Amino acid sequence: MATAIVVGAGIGGLSAAIGLRRRGWEVTVLERAPRIAPVGAGLTLLANGMRGLDALGVGDAVRAQGQVEASGGLRTSDGRWLSRVDGDAMTRALGTSAIGIHRATLHRVLLEALPPDTVVTGSEVRQVSAGPRPSVDGRTADLVVAADGIDSLIRRRLWPTVPSPAYAGTTAWRGVTTEPWRGPLVVAVTWGEGAEFGMVPLGDGRVYWFGAVTSPREAWNEDELAAVRARFGHWHDPIPALMAATDTVLRDDLRHLRTPVPSYVHGGVALLGDAAHAMTPNLGQGANQAIEDAVVLAARCDPDGDVRVGLAAYDAQRRPRSQEVARAAYQMGRFGQQLRNPLAVALRNAVIRMTPASAGLRSMARYANWTPPQL
Ligand SMILES: Cc1cc2nc3c(=O)[nH]c(=O)nc-3n(C[C@H](O)[C@H](O)[C@H](O)COP(=O)(O)OP(=O)(O)OC[C@H]3O[C@@H](n4cnc5c(N)ncnc54)[C@H](O)[C@@H]3O)c2cc1C
Repeated sequence: MATAIVVGAGIGGLSAAIGLRRRGWEVTVLERAPRIAPVGAGLTLLANGMRGLDALGVGDAVRAQGQVEASGGLRTSDGRWLSRVDGDAMTRALGTSAIGIHRATLHRVLLEALPPDTVVTGSEVRQVSAGPRPSVDGRTADLVVAADGIDSLIRRRLWPTVPSPAYAGTTAWRGVTTEPWRGPLVVAVTWGEGAEFGMVPLGDGRVYWFGAVTSPREAWNEDELAAVRARFGHWHDPIPALMAATDTVLRDDLRHLRTPVPSYVHGGVALLGDAAHAMTPNLGQGANQAIEDAVVLAARCDPDGDVRVGLAAYDAQRRPRSQEVARAAYQMGRFGQQLRNPLAVALRNAVIRMTPASAGLRSMARYANWTPPQL
């Protein structure tokens, strides 16, 4: 039986493991964390990611644990609407709804789709060889999948000329309300001057929220929850109340692979997810692109065929699209959250207000409109 080692049990690595197993690969996932802990906040799975999860056979389990995002749009910090998205029209256009889900829940659903001994925790990979038969830490396989995240050791070892991820100029706080949210909630992203706030209802009734601001890097605060409450406390309802209903907050300086990786394949090793194309979260596409990678990799790599041929097809299919999405996400950040000059902000807002709803819908659907290959 053809063997694959997947390095990293994040959303990308687990999705790849599910896809490759469906194709008949014998898969082992090596994860450095001592155990899979319920970490992170929430995230949005867009139509492309949901279709990918359907191809992996876990879409309905994810829908059952998540919350359909029925509406959306853009507001200013005083609550005025710049544009509104009709969730039903979006679902009709894309064939499936976006889903808000807690990361830990998504991880659990993905893990449950794998036999219990597939993921080996406490296994930090330190060495990699690309071939002729790829190996990690002396263990050979027919295929090695580097799903080891933005700081990928495998990318650093096999692609030494690719520059390290760069700070994108923005820091972000993420929180989830402690209890299910009983108040009114109209889902939207809100733009201020050099700042953005968003909210996503989760399957268990709680609400995931994020606040992002332009900032020097590593400008940490002693009390991050107090800092984010102070920064967004005067924004429209229910933003202050959501933050007041939250006990703990995560804070990350946002980084991305500014220089695109020249190939996602080296010998029998494939880069996947953030290891290949870490992007800013402005289009909510990072994990969705990792899921697309996983489905395409599994579809192209036939366990009874020539792995190198499959990997070449994977690179050809995934690199242009994922790098285009990464570029567009960065541009969206510059046009949206990072815009600070009051005149430029007023001009941008006027342009958005004048844009017909149908054009807004088309631009939102642009990257979410993706059809997975058959597995
Ligand atoms: C603020 C913010 C909001 C976001 N919101 C969204 C969103 O709404 N929608 C969306 O699609 N995306 C979103 N993203 C992006 C998304 O989180 C990432 O793109 C996605 O989680 C990447 O998954 P991954 O599996 O590639 O990497 P990771 O999740 O980083 O997983 C990598 C795994 O590899 C393991 N590992 C690392 N090194 C080794 C090693 N040497 N040996 C063994 N294991 C190793 C790590 O422990 C980890 O478990 C957001 C990101 C941020 C920062």
